[in-house]
Amino acid sequence: MLDFIELNTTCFYFKGAVNIGYIHHERQGMLIDAGIDKSTMKKVIKRLKQQALPITHLFITHAHSDHFGGAHYLQEQYDIHTIAPELEEAIMRYPQLEPLYLFGGNVPLPSLHNKFLEGNPIKIDQVISEGVYEIGSFGMETYYLPGHSYHQLAIKVDGILYAADVYFGLEQLAKHKIPFLTDAQLTLESLESIKLIKCDGAVPGHGEFEENFWKTVDGNIAYHHQLLTWVKKYMDSHHGGVTHEMIVADMCSAYEVNTSKLSQWLLFRTTVTGYLLALVKQNVLDHAILENKWTFFSKRRRSLE
Ligand SMILES: [Zn+2]
Repeated sequence: MLDFIELNTTCFYFKGAVNIGYIHHERQGMLIDAGIDKSTMKKVIKRLKQQALPITHLFITHAHSDHFGGAHYLQEQYDIHTIAPELEEAIMRYPQLEPLYLFGGNVPLPSLHNKFLEGNPIKIDQVISEGVYEIGSFGMETYYLPGHSYHQLAIKVDGILYAADVYFGLEQLAKHKIPFLTDAQLTLESLESIKLIKCDGAVPGHGEFEENFWKTVDGNIAYHHQLLTWVKKYMDSHHGGVTHEMIVADMCSAYEVNTSKLSQWLLFRTTVTGYLLALVKQNVLDHAILENKWTFFSKRRRSLE
């Protein structure tokens, strides 16, 4: 069951595996994200109906199916004004893009069309970017915070920051072990940026509302640095470079995320690559195609030789 938690007179959230925000302004009500599927959305609608609370607007923070998968059913039930970040909106209108990009551009195998990688398509009425907006009765500020996804927007309404997946609760972080990201450098930059946003508290996509959320954000920063340090040490201990495939395998083993599912492995592969790319950008690693294998090298090690 989802707890419905009041944060101030207008801001609420449904606390679950994936949090769903709700803002109430008299005859208008805005959901922030939609959960993974129809059954989650049914619970949300039931609860709002019980309290005679309206649903007129929907804002989706980013195009991961656990955040927009429930929106298809919501749009069948309600005439709702749906708002989404640029680029992310394209993936929500064509959700097969997610298994497609994770699969390196190949036509996805049938097993990759599952609800964790591909939500049902939804219509988007309004595409926005970072900025200040008045939509219906809702005044909002949105913040471009990429890294976990390509054009993720956190949103601040009536003093509360709905932070999407910019950071995770520390419990969730530890549980995921190698939490999904597309670029670790952008992730770290977004984590630094989010600390500067003035608000009365923040709700992450996975975790709990906190007034003082900076500690949790710092915990996320420390966690990513720990993973980056692991990669650096690992690369330093491998003279002559390591293939991309080998690094993915060794990092997954080291963090005990052994999976036999292609869909999960693809998510880990993207994330491990996200850490490698950060170290390439930081000039710590180099990469080349050697004997038709994508190979990474530690620059420090190379210069010592
Ligand atoms: Zn996400």
